Amino acid sequence: VIEIRDLHKSYGDLEVLKGVSMTAPRGHVTSLIGSSGSGKSTLLRCANLLEDSQRGEILFNGEPILWKGDGPHRRPADRKQVTRIRTNLSMVFQQFNLWAHMTILENVMEAPVTVLGRDRKEVEEKARIYLDKVGIGDKCDVYPAQMSGGQQQRAAIARALCMEPQALLFDEPTSALDPELEQEVIKVIKALAEEGRTMIIVTHDMRMASDISDHVVFLHKGLIEEEGHPSELFGKPKSERLKQFLSATV
Ligand code: ATP
Ligand code: MG
Repeated sequence: VIEIRDLHKSYGDLEVLKGVSMTAPRGHVTSLIGSSGSGKSTLLRCANLLEDSQRGEILFNGEPILWKGDGPHRRPADRKQVTRIRTNLSMVFQQFNLWAHMTILENVMEAPVTVLGRDRKEVEEKARIYLDKVGIGDKCDVYPAQMSGGQQQRAAIARALCMEPQALLFDEPTSALDPELEQEVIKVIKALAEEGRTMIIVTHDMRMASDISDHVVFLHKGLIEEEGHPSELFGKPKSERLKQFLSATV
């Protein structure tokens, strides 16, 4: 679905991504691990064009993103293409970013209705199905502040699903949660993985990564240091940096 080739991204003098190439194949779960500051969030944000990048290619279903300008001034050229990618790669953030003044149902319905222009009634039906799916079908008329963190994150996942994207991108979806609440969100993500959804997950949870991933990518200072099947990457890490990282996280 999404293919990244030799991506470079700097913030001023700080080079955050130094030539990253990765592919997230359809139906696969790809986990992105690495120390704080290694560029994981930046990579996800570049992938769905929330951030510009300076060099490299991004292909969506084989179709390269068109760019305008060069180097630090490079921008996606085609607004339609940007919208198509954003709606097809739905992102779930660490902080759930629900709209406080809307009920949970309204939160889930908002983007399909306003961005995609879908029929309200149909969207409402779907929204209820997705809220059921993540186990909070009874919370439709409640406001975010009245829910636990785990419930809010599950609502954010339902909201992403309601866009019916080709892939879901998760940026540390459980790191803002208490351990007990973390489990309920992990359960939902596992169920989505078992359905064969295409996902890229940035996570610090090595157990979840090893449980649900088809492929794990270890990012170190803006470069892929090692990648592979979780059994290899966690079972027989080759690089010293990965060994160090893993022994520090357990
Ligand atoms: P974490 O595990 O802490 O979330 P990360 O791997 O997601 O880390 P990024 O958020 O991608 O790391 O950040 C990589 C580097 O880029 C960091 O050094 C960070 O300070 C820098 N950075 C990120 N966003 C910006 C920004 N908007 N402006 C300037 N520097 C930034
Ligand atoms: Mg991050």
